[in-house]
Amino acid sequence: QPAALILIGMAGSGKTTLMQRLNAHLHSIGRPPYTLNLDPAVAELPYTANIDIRDTVNYKEVMKQYNMGPNGGILTALNLFTTKFDQVLGFVEKRADQVSHVLVDTPGQIEIFTWSASGAIITEAIASSHPTVVLYVVDTPRCSSPATFMSNMLYACSILYKTRLPFMLVFNKTDAQPHDFAIEWMTDFEAFQRDVHQRDDTYMASLTGSMSLMLEEFYNCLRAVGVSAVTGAGMDELFAAVDECVKEYETEYKPEMERLM
Ligand code: GDP
Ligand code: MG
Repeated sequence: QPAALILIGMAGSGKTTLMQRLNAHLHSIGRPPYTLNLDPAVAELPYTANIDIRDTVNYKEVMKQYNMGPNGGILTALNLFTTKFDQVLGFVEKRADQVSHVLVDTPGQIEIFTWSASGAIITEAIASSHPTVVLYVVDTPRCSSPATFMSNMLYACSILYKTRLPFMLVFNKTDAQPHDFAIEWMTDFEAFQRDVHQRDDTYMASLTGSMSLMLEEFYNCLRAVGVSAVTGAGMDELFAAVDECVKEYETEYKPEMERLM
């Protein structure tokens, strides 16, 4: 079975742009992927989706019909789509022997996917039939202060523990800011605390002190790569890390799943 890559990340982190880049990269090496768009509210897609939620549900109609705001409309659209997800997987299976990967784009607002029953059902359905990797996309320039970095890592951590799937951090937009500071903070906790103190943020300093153990444990079990969805930098490293994650799926996630079934 082709590996499935689920792109998750804060709004504006570059999930959709990265979908386009991954798609273009795989086409260029003669290994085309299968693409799924799960964002009902995206205006224009920069890539061609094999399956597009917008072909099934119109979230603006849903908003009108149920008298909802945009977030309610998007969530309800995703819920309606989830009821047909077995058919979606059926389409994927038909093409499974011809595609290298299954790429999954998720709604702009992260919590619509990560804190909904539909997001969990879709993730589990994919992960029960394909080696699955979560690509947590990070807007690197936007997390260059210790406080924003840490809140983003805590969110990533909560998703890791929720999905329990092989997980990688994808520091995007390295054309705008290199991700070396992030790698330094993840591998050298003293460097992180030094930079927190430099900003003289006493609340953060005591918080990070007490969370250092937990974060170290979290960083130790992850892979992290830097990419630019715009220039295409970092694609080889990204796919090398994906291959490692697929191995982890086979050796850790799959046996656990089979044990529970
Ligand atoms: P999404 O909400 O996570 O799907 O994010 P989008 O893919 O729509 O991207 C949000 C914004 O970030 C857009 O203006 C993109 O052009 C920009 N962006 C995405 N990837 C990159 C990148 O690698 N470098 C730079 N400089 N901008 C990027
Ligand atoms: Mg998007």
